[in-house]
Amino acid sequence: MQRSEVVALDKRHVWHPYTPMDEYIARTDPLVVVGAEGPYLFDADGTRYLDANGSWWVSTLGHRHPRLVRALTEQAGAFPHTSLAGVTHAPAARLAAELVALAPGADRAGLPEAERLSRVFYSDNGSTAVEVAIKMAAQYWAQNGRPARTRFITLSGAFHGETIGATSVGGVEVFRDVFGPLLFDVVHVPSPAEPAGWERALAQVEATLRAHPDEIAAVILEPLIQGAAGMHVYAPAFLRAVREATRAVDTFLIADEVFTGLGRTGARFACDLADVVPDLLCLAKALSGGLMPFAATLATERVFSGFAGGSERALYYGHSYCGNPLGAAVAREVLAVYRDEDVLGQVARKAPRVKAAFERMAADIPGVTRPRALGLVGAVDLGGGGYLARAGWRVYEAARRRGLYLRPLGDTVYVAPALNIPDAALDELLAGVEASLREVAHAGG
Ligand SMILES: *Cc1c(COP(=O)(O)O)cnc(C)c1O
Repeated sequence: MQRSEVVALDKRHVWHPYTPMDEYIARTDPLVVVGAEGPYLFDADGTRYLDANGSWWVSTLGHRHPRLVRALTEQAGAFPHTSLAGVTHAPAARLAAELVALAPGADRAGLPEAERLSRVFYSDNGSTAVEVAIKMAAQYWAQNGRPARTRFITLSGAFHGETIGATSVGGVEVFRDVFGPLLFDVVHVPSPAEPAGWERALAQVEATLRAHPDEIAAVILEPLIQGAAGMHVYAPAFLRAVREATRAVDTFLIADEVFTGLGRTGARFACDLADVVPDLLCLAKALSGGLMPFAATLATERVFSGFAGGSERALYYGHSYCGNPLGAAVAREVLAVYRDEDVLGQVARKAPRVKAAFERMAADIPGVTRPRALGLVGAVDLGGGGYLARAGWRVYEAARRRGLYLRPLGDTVYVAPALNIPDAALDELLAGVEASLREVAHAGG
């Protein structure tokens, strides 16, 4: 099929995510991907694009990693799917044990059994991983003596996914305002990534917990980086202090590591950088390396044991694809590749170059501000409003002409490439971002 025919069918029938469709249909010439390899996407017109965001943060080992493809096809040949109701299989069972062994706190001597992340609930994607964590927290308190604990504390700028529950605990106004009447009530505190510092956010978390200890089911947050809000990085000290504050009133901390988990920040989990063990931990995206929609919610032994003691106390929750064998087999192979290819070591080696490059861009290019970086994430903002109001998209277009797929978050330009991106490709990526920013800054200035 011709490229133009694909685009015509697409524009006739496909409704794209996060896309003003009238504008897209009128003006956008989409990438038409026909292949992918490592950090690259190939368009039907023969252009090669460097994938600056790992295809929405999932492709952490690059596209078509041969070991992941093999794990997927071998499992497909054995059995691609079973329910997980009265059924189990080696991929789900072994993956659960491997995740528990890697989880925050797993190697901390003296951590009480009740506080260990020892149980794994599978689902399909990041939103459902969060949704089930919310339900686990609410149901736990409902049937363990604190029935008024139904509210969640969440951060301004938080992003936890798309379902109504995940949207309710979100803090990005444009994603939630239109659904306002459908969302449950939460307590929003300021973002700890505010330029003024994290102390104000912490003071409000502490004050809310002190004032309403009987009402708060959990604090939910993205550890160390608020991703979708614009790659806002904050201090590990905030995360540690929130953990202490939740412990002081004995309520839960939900760590949404759908973006940060599995190496993005340079550690296995962002929680590890703050030496924090949450009560619930949400994983998706990198977990299955961009091959399958697959997610896991880890719970402590304490949370798990709050559902014992009678069938009416069980968690009545599940998805058709819970524990899907293809996803589980790929996820096991993802973990094996991390070990065998020392992926965390690779991130540690490359992270300083990302940080230095974004700092240089902010120092050198007029209108480019707020450089930030952590692990293999680097970001800058484009100066306030005016001709720069749509500058993120102008940078996108300038980057595309250079063979770079660099989708912005509003006026935040960022990279979150595959963690195993080869050095030469990383150089190409950083140079391409810089050149694209310069082009837009000069055109506008
Ligand atoms: C992407 C993301 C989600 C939602 O994951 P989906 O797989 O898109 O549903 C939730 N939380 C965070 C922190 C994310 O970055």
